[in-house]
Amino acid sequence: MKMGYDFDTSAVHAGREDFLELGVHAAPLDLSSTYPIPDLEEGTASLEALAHGAADAPQKVYSRLNQPTVARFEGALAKLEGAEHAVAYASGMAALTAVLLALRVRHSEDARPHVLALRPIYGGSDHLLDHGLTGCEVEWVSAEEVSRKVRPETRLIIAETPANPTLKWLDLEQLVADAQGTPVMIDSTFATPVLQTPIAHGATLVMHSATKFLGGHGDVLAGIVATSNDEWAAALRHVRVITGACMHPMAAYLCLRSMPTLALRVRRATESATELAGFLMRQPAVSAVHYPKADHPLLGSQMLGRGSLISFELAGGYEAAAALMKAVQLCTPAVSLGSTDTLIQHPAGLTHHVVPEEERVAAGITAGMIRLSVGLESVDDLQRDLAQALAVAATTAPMGSQPEAASSSVVDQAAQS
Ligand SMILES: *Cc1c(COP(=O)(O)O)cnc(C)c1O
Repeated sequence: MKMGYDFDTSAVHAGREDFLELGVHAAPLDLSSTYPIPDLEEGTASLEALAHGAADAPQKVYSRLNQPTVARFEGALAKLEGAEHAVAYASGMAALTAVLLALRVRHSEDARPHVLALRPIYGGSDHLLDHGLTGCEVEWVSAEEVSRKVRPETRLIIAETPANPTLKWLDLEQLVADAQGTPVMIDSTFATPVLQTPIAHGATLVMHSATKFLGGHGDVLAGIVATSNDEWAAALRHVRVITGACMHPMAAYLCLRSMPTLALRVRRATESATELAGFLMRQPAVSAVHYPKADHPLLGSQMLGRGSLISFELAGGYEAAAALMKAVQLCTPAVSLGSTDTLIQHPAGLTHHVVPEEERVAAGITAGMIRLSVGLESVDDLQRDLAQALAVAATTAPMGSQPEAASSSVVDQAAQS
């Protein structure tokens, strides 16, 4: 494929560049765990190169070192992110772990590489960063504190935008400026390259839980990191060889198969989410709706759409939220996001349950908060389902909640930031 096509064309054709030459129309799926090594000398040299982070070698040797179906998906995602490289892992958490361990490969002189991390962030990422397991010294900061807290020896700044589950947007170019040369890693899972390409705004690394929109059908667990920095890419592959948190070729095949529909899926779900956010704002049982505003200053520059996730708070608090999850008939009550079907979940009780309670509250994750990942169903059917479930939930609201008063405090997160 020649360079210079629009995003939608690249999404359809990336990873298929050699199909004509191969005489195939679907990606070859290679499930080999090991590969023949007829030439020992070449095999040894290949192993040596691959084990230290080379992307390719004359012999593949072993599928933990080099996997052609996975490499095909990596090439496609790198192209969509405008990056030189991508390195895929068994899950989003394996990808984030590899980024942190890569710091120890790249800065082996540091006793504990210093990392700044911004809250709120995905609950699992929060848990990993807070745990100390990877041997990094993680300091939690707000976006406003970055320029003050960054030190000459800070190795990485980690942030997520749109943030989970508040859907707040960070100004990437501001963050990169505040980082003063320190590499920035963005978890762009919620945006996908359809809506946001962080490397174009100065980020060094962009990470995805490919389990979400990239896989897109709720049948793959995978993660990927893209970068244009050769040393970072080599360190990320090196860590993958050592730790073995490899993406399975079947997962790579499914993710690659989902790339041609990525833009269509994200845009359709975004349209429906915009409509549903408006509907939710009109509901007396809903006290707040967090959905980016149509006149958000970053819309059209950093973010090319408002996205398909909505968080909202129920005036009836935890009881109403639990009742809503039980009452939905079409939406799937489940964690995860970016699937073909609409998923509804309770951040404080599920995705962010591992985050310490006071941090959760500080991040705005309330007991009455619900997160909706809007899927590809008819928006009218989704609205009817939410309307009937909200009606059920309203009857379980605790005494003393005042829906009429609550409706006047409906917020639109962008209005606050
Ligand atoms: C799901 C998710 C992760 C973790 O990915 P897994 O594939 O579940 O390991 C990380 N970041 C964000 C924003 C996510 O939504």
